[in-house]
Amino acid sequence: MSQPPLTVFYSPAYAVDGKMETVSKSKLVAGLIESGAAGEVRLEAPKPATRRELELIHEAEYVRHTLEDKGAFLEVGPWSRPLLDSILASTGGMRDAVKEALKNGRSGSLSSGLHHARRNSGNGFCQFNGLALAALEALKKVKTVGILDLDAHAGGGTFDILGDHPQVYLADVTVSSFDSWEPTDKNRHFYVDVEKPKAYLGHVEDALLTLERVDFLIYNAGMDTYEKAGGMKGITKEIILQREKRVVEWARARKIPHIFALAGGYKWGGLTLEQVAELHLETVKAFAA
Ligand SMILES: [Zn+2]
Repeated sequence: MSQPPLTVFYSPAYAVDGKMETVSKSKLVAGLIESGAAGEVRLEAPKPATRRELELIHEAEYVRHTLEDKGAFLEVGPWSRPLLDSILASTGGMRDAVKEALKNGRSGSLSSGLHHARRNSGNGFCQFNGLALAALEALKKVKTVGILDLDAHAGGGTFDILGDHPQVYLADVTVSSFDSWEPTDKNRHFYVDVEKPKAYLGHVEDALLTLERVDFLIYNAGMDTYEKAGGMKGITKEIILQREKRVVEWARARKIPHIFALAGGYKWGGLTLEQVAELHLETVKAFAA
């Protein structure tokens, strides 16, 4: 049986020229998708996140500060209309990806800058936590949601917002000491700080085991784990490609809707922005296959 083409959320508002990878690389990934490099994939513009939605995951005062204080610093740069529009569009993309996946089984958004954002503050280039918004959106229709965070860094913001939520499972495989959190419920939480690159995929399997019972998967597909994209020496492109295939295969075997976010991926290791975009395209390809 053939499945409908993968729909991925993106609008030109996501990207702000001249800013860091978090708000610039999506444009290149979208360009690669439009050229057909990921197979049959449709791009669709999401509705921006609303104040009401943001107040479900963040303190009202923090939301107000971000939306209205023109002197504010927005994690990736000083307040500006294009930057705010980028944050709102890419946060909204996560909600629309959930709606699409609930209909057609899978989706994604070219969003980055999500998982470090806490209930009452931004952190680590993340202003609003689109993963948390996506989880709450999915819970309107399913009983349990899993967030698999394979970014190089831990999703301390996601834990801050949803760690206590009984229907949300969190699995986090980190290779960096930036940001962290401690599991408070061994049935719903998995956290590992990887020490040896050869053990990486085994840890990913352990993370998936924790998510065994979830009805919906949100995958934070950071490429900054890769040794040349800011990650851990010894985590090769081959390992990353296997990881992407495995996550998709796992979700499909369980017949659960699944979505991805781009998450981290940087030029720090010597890559060009084009090469970073090509890495992220591997996630899109795995979802589209
Ligand atoms: Zn990261």
